[in-house]
Amino acid sequence: MTTNFYAPPSAFRGSRVVLPEDEGRHVRSVLRTRTGDEIVVVDGEGGWHRVTIDHLSSEQVVGMVQETRRNVGEPDVHLTVGFGLLTKRSRFETFVEKAVELGVRRIVPLHTAHTETDTFRYDRTRNVMIAALKQCRRSWLPELAKPKTLASLLDASEADHRLVCHGSEDAPSVFEALDGGAEARILTLVGPEGGFSAAEVEEAVGAGCTPVSLGPRRLRAETAGIATATAVLMHCE
Ligand code: SAH
Repeated sequence: MTTNFYAPPSAFRGSRVVLPEDEGRHVRSVLRTRTGDEIVVVDGEGGWHRVTIDHLSSEQVVGMVQETRRNVGEPDVHLTVGFGLLTKRSRFETFVEKAVELGVRRIVPLHTAHTETDTFRYDRTRNVMIAALKQCRRSWLPELAKPKTLASLLDASEADHRLVCHGSEDAPSVFEALDGGAEARILTLVGPEGGFSAAEVEEAVGAGCTPVSLGPRRLRAETAGIATATAVLMHCE
């Protein structure tokens, strides 16, 4: 089977699952699945289900759950990435897709001093995340927050360890900053195209963030987001 399918917990009743319309269509037309065939359905809240197709019609695909496992494909660490909204939507979506694949658990789009856009397509971004969830075979759909200010993210964050990515030569690497810690919840911040302002970096440091470097090259924001998520997850997994 090349892909997992997604159905939210509300689609499950006892051992039956009724696939959402678009997933049902995918099962029927793309994969030419038949009654009795086996598929994997993830519920985005840690549930991984081996399902046999019980009923297949043009209106509905119903499956019977044969086996359920928890947290398949998930890292131990709960990583939140606060990510400055980008003018180029496709770059933001590239970051989001890769963040899901890498194991990020929460994405918070940020309004920052140098953010040059107000528009954020929530549903479209969430659909990118669902596609990535299915493709990479994890079982949690990361939470996508509504865009926030840096201050409100810092106030509400419950992270044990906080990092702010900032291109300064003398800053430690992510590995050095996390050294020895086996934190359960980590927050890392990445600025928009124009970077964080000096006041924002100060604000983040005041809220307990360690400035970290991702190397001597200036990365595009989406690259920085992917790099910091990779470093944290590789370090903690
Ligand atoms: N013009 C901006 C660059 C922004 S790059 C400036 O000079 O600050 C977008 C974001 O990616 C930055 O805010 C930072 O969070 C991150 N970033 C890019 N390269 C980085 C590096 N080498 N180390 C740490 N963070 C980096």
